[in-house]
Amino acid sequence: MSLPSWFDGEDAPATPELHTCIHCGLCLTACPTYRTLKVEPDSPRGRLYLMRGLAEGRIAPSDPLVGHLDRCLDCRACETVCPAGVPYSRLLEATRGQLSRRWRSASPLRMLGHWVLRSVLPHAGRVALAADALRLGQARPLAALLETPLAQRLLPRFARQGLAMTPKLKPRRERALESVAPRLPKGARMEINALALVFHPTGSPKGHVAFHTSCVMPAMFPEQNHESVRLMVLAGLRVTVPRAQSCCGALQAHAGLRREAKALGAANARAFAGEYDFVVSNSAGCGAALREAGHLLHESADAVAAEQLSGRTRDVAEVLAHFNLPVAAVPLHAAGDMSRPLRVTYHDACHLAHAQRVREAPRRLLRALPGVELIPLPNADWCCGSAGVYNLTHPDMADAQLAGKLDSVESVSPDVVVASNPGCLLHMRRGAAARGLKPRFVHLVELLGEAFPPPAGRA
Ligand code: SF4
Ligand code: SF4
Repeated sequence: MSLPSWFDGEDAPATPELHTCIHCGLCLTACPTYRTLKVEPDSPRGRLYLMRGLAEGRIAPSDPLVGHLDRCLDCRACETVCPAGVPYSRLLEATRGQLSRRWRSASPLRMLGHWVLRSVLPHAGRVALAADALRLGQARPLAALLETPLAQRLLPRFARQGLAMTPKLKPRRERALESVAPRLPKGARMEINALALVFHPTGSPKGHVAFHTSCVMPAMFPEQNHESVRLMVLAGLRVTVPRAQSCCGALQAHAGLRREAKALGAANARAFAGEYDFVVSNSAGCGAALREAGHLLHESADAVAAEQLSGRTRDVAEVLAHFNLPVAAVPLHAAGDMSRPLRVTYHDACHLAHAQRVREAPRRLLRALPGVELIPLPNADWCCGSAGVYNLTHPDMADAQLAGKLDSVESVSPDVVVASNPGCLLHMRRGAAARGLKPRFVHLVELLGEAFPPPAGRA
């Protein structure tokens, strides 16, 4: 007689998908937590076994079981190597959704995290306000106060780590995407209307794309959004930035907040329903979430629009490689040595390489830059440990992955490390600074932007 499943009927992991694992174990050494801990329940195969135990009613949630599932970085390296095509991340996130609704204890940290995910990130105005407040905290005398030994002792570790990683924030007028207008190529122009910001290229557009700005990029990494838009305009594209767009829902989905992730996915499906060739993201995690919208919403009223959004989402590297930047670029060279090429290495963000299967386009763009020597990074697609907010919730495991990544970086002595995910960059920059490493850690569009600077007089 079969036992009743622990899962209820709302959005449970699909039984046929839970049975796709053939227990071959090829995923074990691809998994960062298994490489570190060497125990089966902290491997993809072990976690799938736990999920199946819940589905078949053989086991019930417990602190150790949830610990194993929580330790997963959702990096999806296991999906890349799995010969059976197990949709691991979908199963994990559906399981986390059930646990989040029906089992979780309400610790203060979890409540704070869920409040941020539910009540701050989906609202651009609140994210901007939070950035303003953080900016005040970065100014003296508050910054000096936060750095005192007493404050460092009193602050919880996640807060210390979060503050240490936060980049220097800019004032609002400099963060605004509109501020890129003076740096656009000659003949290009910006149009502001009630529904969108629209950037028109010089001459007839080669294509029309919509740009997803993400929720935190406009506040934390505005220059990466500015450069993404400027480079796409330089490539001859009309770029529309719809005002109705929303946070991608990736962090909510990773945390098991399925209803919230679906609501955000539906909002984006409607916001990006126009006549665009592609919907472009420059953040690996956001791009992966937008590509997943079709699956997430397949039973909803927005299923068709969500499927269309999934099918049209591209990373900015794919779009720039597809439409081509102009041939002439400013040669790059090592700082202080015009005769030496710039040694660049590329880190594959998990949600770009494993989730979106984008590996070649960024490398092709880098190889085409005059003066750049692209050197392979050992284990380039191993997770750096950032993984959304994982580096705050699981700092020891995150630091173990970071140490391996920085060892790889040190082994090839680059001038620049390029990645296409802001979370990876912040995490690696913090670790590199602590080690005293010299390389710069930059987003792909930042390095491309250096090779294609604004025309003279428009910087
Ligand atoms: S998603 Fe990453 S951390 Fe999680 S089981 Fe797969 S390989 Fe391991
Ligand atoms: S590689 Fe795929 S099929 Fe093999 S054990 Fe891992 S998840 Fe299962």
